[in-house]
Amino acid sequence: MECSKCGTPAVTLIRYSGQHLCGDHFRAFFERRVKRELHRQVDLRGGERIAVGLSGGKDSSTTTVLLHDILSPRRDVELVAVTVDEGIASYRPEGIRLAQDLCRGLGIEHRVVRYEDTVGWRMDEVVAADPEAIPCSYCGVFRRNALNLAAREVAADYVATGLNLDDTAQSILMNVARGDVEKLARLGPHTRAQPGLVPRLQPLRSVPDKEVYLYAILRGIRFHDGACPYAERAQRRRFREVVNRLEADAPGTRHAIVRGYDRLRPAITGQFPPVPLDECASCGEPTAGLLCKVCELRARLGTLAGSAAPRAVGASEEGGGRDAGA
Ligand code: SF4
Repeated sequence: MECSKCGTPAVTLIRYSGQHLCGDHFRAFFERRVKRELHRQVDLRGGERIAVGLSGGKDSSTTTVLLHDILSPRRDVELVAVTVDEGIASYRPEGIRLAQDLCRGLGIEHRVVRYEDTVGWRMDEVVAADPEAIPCSYCGVFRRNALNLAAREVAADYVATGLNLDDTAQSILMNVARGDVEKLARLGPHTRAQPGLVPRLQPLRSVPDKEVYLYAILRGIRFHDGACPYAERAQRRRFREVVNRLEADAPGTRHAIVRGYDRLRPAITGQFPPVPLDECASCGEPTAGLLCKVCELRARLGTLAGSAAPRAVGASEEGGGRDAGA
């Protein structure tokens, strides 16, 4: 097939637009949407610091490279990468290594923040202590907390994540299916900062998962392609299958889900505005209740294990998590 733009051999068919694109036109198409999305989400006036959540996977690595491309001509906006180490021995170390290499190559400051320091538990220990639970229900809460703590520590004004179009459509459907309208109203990107919470940016929000993969390959971005051993038990997997089936039957469905949500969002957030946050009675982090979710989960783990956390928070034997090599 030939590129619909220039007639050279195409590398992909964009089913939802009917276009065949060569490598150069695909890259331009991809980058245009990421730039547009970033500018739609944030007005960078200078002096900002953006922390990018970099797992070493294709989405966050591509986000890091593109933010570096877009922001490096500006000397008044700084980028710093933060990798969350969940403590999953068979999975995370390779992602951390690739994240370190990427940051070293781009000349970006890189930090690693570990659950064992922020909550006192590695995910492998969490799964052993609570084998009936869906691991992601712990991991998602711990990750938001770790990223937020790390972003505040590096004085970041925003946290950029690698959430792509598929992830966004899945999150919308998941919250609709659960009837969780409050959570639906709180999905990023965030336009308003709440005290203690660093707002989220999602530059890949309008780009499908497979296009991120192709872009990373074409750009020669090295990324971690492994799967988390606990992902099979994630509820999200079922919604991924649903979204994939809908998209296969009717190309453009993912875009329609997200577009529809964006149109509804002002009405939903008007009805369910952010609740005023207080300080968690145990750790002092922002929370709508007496205890934050992290402390509730830590208390549950402590009860299940019949003891306190395996280690005190902020006291891992490996120290503060700064990646000196980057
Ligand atoms: Fe954590 Fe679940 Fe992701 Fe694994 S799949 S890293 S347990 S959120």
